[in-house]
Amino acid sequence: MTQKPRGRQFFANPGPTNIPDSVLRALDRPSIDFQDPEFVAVYDEAFAGVKRVLRTAQSLFMYNASGHGAWEASLTNLFSPGEKILVLETGFFSDDWAAMGRGFGLEVEVLAADRRRGVDIAALRAVLAADTGHAIAGVCVVHNETATGLMIPLPEVRAAIDACAHPALFLVDTISSLGSLEFRMDDWGVDCVVGGSQKGLMLPTGMSFTGVSEKGMQAHRVAGLKRYYFDWTLMEKRAQKSFIGTLPVNMFYGLRESVRLLEEEGLDNVVSRHHRLAEATRRAVKVWSGNNGPQLFCVSPDRYSDSVTAILMPEGYDAEAVRRCCRWKFNVSLGGGLGALGGKVFRIGHLGDLNEPMLLGALAAVEMALRIEGIPHGRGGVDAAMDYLAE
Ligand code: PLP
Repeated sequence: MTQKPRGRQFFANPGPTNIPDSVLRALDRPSIDFQDPEFVAVYDEAFAGVKRVLRTAQSLFMYNASGHGAWEASLTNLFSPGEKILVLETGFFSDDWAAMGRGFGLEVEVLAADRRRGVDIAALRAVLAADTGHAIAGVCVVHNETATGLMIPLPEVRAAIDACAHPALFLVDTISSLGSLEFRMDDWGVDCVVGGSQKGLMLPTGMSFTGVSEKGMQAHRVAGLKRYYFDWTLMEKRAQKSFIGTLPVNMFYGLRESVRLLEEEGLDNVVSRHHRLAEATRRAVKVWSGNNGPQLFCVSPDRYSDSVTAILMPEGYDAEAVRRCCRWKFNVSLGGGLGALGGKVFRIGHLGDLNEPMLLGALAAVEMALRIEGIPHGRGGVDAAMDYLAE
């Protein structure tokens, strides 16, 4: 198709996500000196707001970097060369975090899992119990695997660590769960949480952060990996306490507004809205899976992600055909399959600034694309989603 589709784009990507108009308006302002008292007040408010969203009273450090920067900060600030971390396999993003650990000279053990189900918590408990010498210094978990639409129940991971009285640090990537799924850093005993701006926080990409527990800060004091821009000790000495270099001032105006929006709705209501929209998506996919059609990639209902749904194509059909049709005929942007799932999976992001008609528009485009592209499927997925939402 040569002509650009008209109308507003329905953005159903799992990150970046839709940016609310009021956040766009907040970002749109002239530069200000980052030491100006007017800005310092905005910074302080935004900073305190992120801590409330993380549900932590402990330390927070922020970076001019996408999520990869916060990943790097988490590993380099907490560990020493040759130390061992255990990464729970979830998919593309656990692979990447593990690869980064190897890149920094850590010994990385991966707790293997069926990627459509996620790790077996009993297997985690067995690995930790067998580690009587406490060689494992950290357990790294991607809370919500954005590539597969799978959520790992963090309280169960915490309970497994506690059941073995294992001293390992508990590291959690919340990049596609924060501001969408329930997350409680302090209550769940998370020692280091990695978050980013471009998903549940509804901001542009480019800012990320780590929340760190007291135990994490103690580990940091003796951690020997090399670091500079991401160094928490260095950050603590700076005026802004949590940031090195020029502050992205506009981003903080946007962040203050996005936290305001989340709190105006109420964090618990944000979580239930995400659950409602995710469940409507799953109802649609379950109908489409009729006639040997596309199906949910995740096959563990208690681990369905409420922020992204990955949909596995029937054998011999290309997921990219669905994405292309949605994008060029209907101006709907979907996520593609990542890594080995390229062409096999497409993803519907249902996180951030989203309501029922926005989701239904995306689902309707997908159902039309399945028809147009001659992909076998059960008809009536959008009806099933509407029935659920109207209940
Ligand atoms: N972790 C998860 C779960 C992600 O979804 C992503 C990106 O989508 C990342 C890490 C990497 O973050 P970034 O792309 O912002 O560097």
